[in-house]
Amino acid sequence: MTKEALSKYMEEFKDSLIAPSDPRHQAVELLVRILAERIQDIAEISSVPWTVHVVDGPTINAFVLPNGKVFIFTGMLEAVAGIHQLVFILGHEIAHALIGHAAEQASLSHVVELLSLILLTAIWAICPRDSLAVLGQWIQSKLVQFLFNRPFSRKLEAEADQVGLRLAAKACADVRAGPVFWQQMEIYDQLRGEPTIPEWLSTHPSHQNRVRQLDRLVPEALELRARCDFPGLPKADPRVIFHQTVKLLLDNAKKQEKIAQEEKNEKRRSEVMLSLPQSPPVPTPGSQPQLGGLQATSALLQTLLSK
Ligand SMILES: [Zn+2]
Repeated sequence: MTKEALSKYMEEFKDSLIAPSDPRHQAVELLVRILAERIQDIAEISSVPWTVHVVDGPTINAFVLPNGKVFIFTGMLEAVAGIHQLVFILGHEIAHALIGHAAEQASLSHVVELLSLILLTAIWAICPRDSLAVLGQWIQSKLVQFLFNRPFSRKLEAEADQVGLRLAAKACADVRAGPVFWQQMEIYDQLRGEPTIPEWLSTHPSHQNRVRQLDRLVPEALELRARCDFPGLPKADPRVIFHQTVKLLLDNAKKQEKIAQEEKNEKRRSEVMLSLPQSPPVPTPGSQPQLGGLQATSALLQTLLSK
């Protein structure tokens, strides 16, 4: 199945694969090599020949086939805020491959296929109509589609997050960046108003849940990270920086909104004034004829608005 999947993907992406000499390809390759080197004590990792394929496309997605073929889209490279998040994502995908999630999921889909086949045969035996057969086929194809389009269940995702965070810690990444990635995705998702990244988002558990789960796992991963002979962690926690940045952006957005609202109100006021019937100025006895108050104001407003 892996071989089949690989040739399917290679065919699908043959025109959009980025050259190995591209800095983006080289960066991912280097990170995968570091991950593999630092976690060599895990037999499955050291025996897998990891190869990287960077697909040029806006999709925020990455996956690893059980035979060590790493696929990552440039959309994902643009979505991560730095190298630590990227190591976390790669760790997560490598974890799927290590734990054998693809096989687990595939055997599950075979069971579902078999069950649906039994069910359909039973229905057809009771009521052998062509229309039913068509309906049955549709249900079956939907079931298979459902399973293959949702490659990993929530349980498997949580498992890959947990193992992936540990792999990232062993590779000396700042594991606190892991939950931040999902917070970014949450905001991205909300701004777009819909899950626009089906391959990744719709198949992955709700971001809030995984942020909470990852936050719980961070202290344990930090202990593992402490064994690194690498320079220590940056003093500033990326989670705190993220919260402060979001707060600042929200405050600024609120201020902008307030200013825009005030400008709108002002404009409406002047429009109301301009639309009022304009009577000719009544000359006051003993003074020079002047522009009436209303006219003067609207003239002034018009000059101001035209600036
Ligand atoms: Zn996953």
